[in-house]
Amino acid sequence: MELPRESRHRLVVLGAGMSGLCMGVRLKRSGIDDFLILEKQAGLGGTWWDTRYPGAQVDVPAPAYAFSFAPNPDWSRRFATAAEIQRYQQALAEREGLLPHLRFGQTLVAAHWDTVAAEWRLHTAAGAVLRARWFVCSTGPLSPPRWPEFPGLDSFAGPRLHSARWDETVPIEGRRVGVIGTASSAAQLIPPLAERAASLTVFQRSANWVLPRLDRRYRTTDRWLARRPLWAGLARQGWIGLLEQVRKGFDAGHPVRYLLLALAHGLRHWQVRDPVLRAALAPQYPLGCKRLIFSNNYYPALARPNVRLETTPIAAVQAGGLRLADGREHALDVLVCATGFDTGRPLSAISIRGRDGRGLDAAWADGAQAHHGISVAGFPNLFLLLGPNTATGHTSTLPFIEAAVEHILACMARTEAAGARAIEVEAEAMAAHNAALQARLAGSVWSQCQSWYRAANGRIVALFPGGSADYVAAVRVPRTTDYRLHRDQE
Ligand code: NAP
Repeated sequence: MELPRESRHRLVVLGAGMSGLCMGVRLKRSGIDDFLILEKQAGLGGTWWDTRYPGAQVDVPAPAYAFSFAPNPDWSRRFATAAEIQRYQQALAEREGLLPHLRFGQTLVAAHWDTVAAEWRLHTAAGAVLRARWFVCSTGPLSPPRWPEFPGLDSFAGPRLHSARWDETVPIEGRRVGVIGTASSAAQLIPPLAERAASLTVFQRSANWVLPRLDRRYRTTDRWLARRPLWAGLARQGWIGLLEQVRKGFDAGHPVRYLLLALAHGLRHWQVRDPVLRAALAPQYPLGCKRLIFSNNYYPALARPNVRLETTPIAAVQAGGLRLADGREHALDVLVCATGFDTGRPLSAISIRGRDGRGLDAAWADGAQAHHGISVAGFPNLFLLLGPNTATGHTSTLPFIEAAVEHILACMARTEAAGARAIEVEAEAMAAHNAALQARLAGSVWSQCQSWYRAANGRIVALFPGGSADYVAAVRVPRTTDYRLHRDQE
């Protein structure tokens, strides 16, 4: 549905992924109907709309990957596919009456706080202007694809694919395929591509930690049990509790760490018979520093006769393939970049200006930061979902989203009940929160390698160091003293 050239709303949500949909559901259930959800893609789902590469699955057990208020008894397997998660999101949006609130194909280019009117002015690429009292950015950290910066990347003559924007029409059968990257996305797409390609070369810069994936199909009895609310609740909490145990494996010296190390070493030794290949697959950074990979078919795929692991750095891309640092060349028909997302400068594609015209890019010059990842000093009535330092390397992100949404609703209710114009986090509260967070992250396992959790200056801007229960307890109910209300034009 098109947007009128000018419109006014109580609230605008940006992004129709898990967090935007959660916000929409909770708004509707709170009796708030005057809101829009803008989405740049042609459909809802966020990352689960974008992620279409073969083999795409979530790496959190499905019972923990449904909202607490919207369990899904119909998951077909323990680790749901991307398509199945997108269908869950679509059904949720339909059931909760969100469809009339969604506007697809809308790219936001600017968002400016108008102090006099106490509202946000939002400008879309198509020229529409929306005014909204409240603005919630739920674009998530995993949205803009990151292409590697090799000389000649654009000169590649064949199809060039990115894991985050897959083109299903590109033929793989009988082709010579090259995959750059060996992390979560690559580990999922390499096995199915290896079955179809004539040859597949994996270009590895870093070997990653791989653990067994305890996947299985759900049977009729599983689905029957999942329809029993008590069982469904216990299963969800059970999985979340188990994943929290994995988190302990990121702490030096914890017994769980030895268990994870033993599982990773065991899997590599059991599945990779060739000692040269096995040595090349041994990670050179501490377990947990980058996202763990759970896979039973990644190592076997690398051991296939038509698959080759290349560890020499890439020097350049050419029309017919890749040239390596030692001068060797690899002829390729299809180039796949499983090189992740641009996470260092979130929201940088939008000009966001808060009180006094200050830009979010300037506020985040030393790396993105917010109060509990939700609110930013100087930006009244703006809230972020899955904002800075809310990502997790071990569990479902959904409990984080649900708690942050409750935080936002509480801030809105407090402001409106007080008859105030706006609410803004206190700069001191935000600074104290971030100082404590960075102190907790300093010397942690995540500071011991380079990953998408860190900005270019090394600051860990994406990851939350604790468990989901820590975050939920700190966030669900905002502390009154952390926020100030604006009653006048300030
Ligand atoms: P990623 O974790 O950022 O990994 C990017 C990969 O590309 C790494 O192997 C990286 O090597 C490599 N790379 C990047 N630039 C390169 C260059 N110039 N030359 C050579 N190699 C280069 O991205 P991702 O795999 O898309 O995963 C991102 C996040 O998405 C995950 O951590 C996870 O949170 C989420 N995700 C989840 C699932 C799931 O639920 N199953 C699936 C996919 C993604 P280095 O390690 O050396 O940098």
